[in-house]
Amino acid sequence: MPLIVDTHCHLEQSEFEQDREAVINRASEKGVHMICSGVGREGWDLCIKLAKEHESVSASIGLDPVCFREQAELLAFLEKHSDDMLAVGEVGLDHYRVRDHKERELQAQTFRRAIHFAIENGLPIQIHSRSAGRRALDVLKDMNAEHVHMHAFDGKASLARVASRENGYYFSIPTSVVRSAQKRKLVKAVDIERILVETDSPVLGPDRESRNEPMNVWVALREVASILKREEEEMRDILLENTLRLYPGIRTK
Ligand SMILES: [Zn+2]
Repeated sequence: MPLIVDTHCHLEQSEFEQDREAVINRASEKGVHMICSGVGREGWDLCIKLAKEHESVSASIGLDPVCFREQAELLAFLEKHSDDMLAVGEVGLDHYRVRDHKERELQAQTFRRAIHFAIENGLPIQIHSRSAGRRALDVLKDMNAEHVHMHAFDGKASLARVASRENGYYFSIPTSVVRSAQKRKLVKAVDIERILVETDSPVLGPDRESRNEPMNVWVALREVASILKREEEEMRDILLENTLRLYPGIRTK
């Protein structure tokens, strides 16, 4: 059983090409389980391969919302590999990088298809919602999605409070919480039973300029504990319990 879970990272990305095994081992030695989120065709197979090779890695399969046109490829891959994944995602909406109204409509359609697949297969779903927090939450509620994991949420803290309390949605706090006032606010707003931690490696590190890695999920935990004025040990127990409630598949891996 892991001590802590990095609920969202991208081990399959090229930033880890040179030393991927070392990165995974460093984290595993510190008791970290990693949910590797593959967000593009190039990374899906590698993500599943890493999960098969490492007890401390699970796979989640999704699509960068900017690549919404690859809907058919995503759905075909999900269908084919549904037994090999712990979750669907990240999928979602990105209104920061997609501005055109028609394109946003297509993006939302791909998002809905992915949610539908997750619901049908009883899988948790990891959500990207950059500059579209409210919209993404509306779509999820509208579809009665359960087992929802909002990753690196950049929307209003008040929205997160309601979604965590009334809808039971989970919110993962990234390592960048050490340098982000918005993320600190998020920690205080989300129901404590719904908080998770993540690194989003290779990005969102404690230091903006350096490559992030899953072992740093401990940094996120320490910061969350300090913000909520809890002992680190107690906070760790709460986060692990939350994570295993949303991702029971980690227990049986
Ligand atoms: Zn991500």
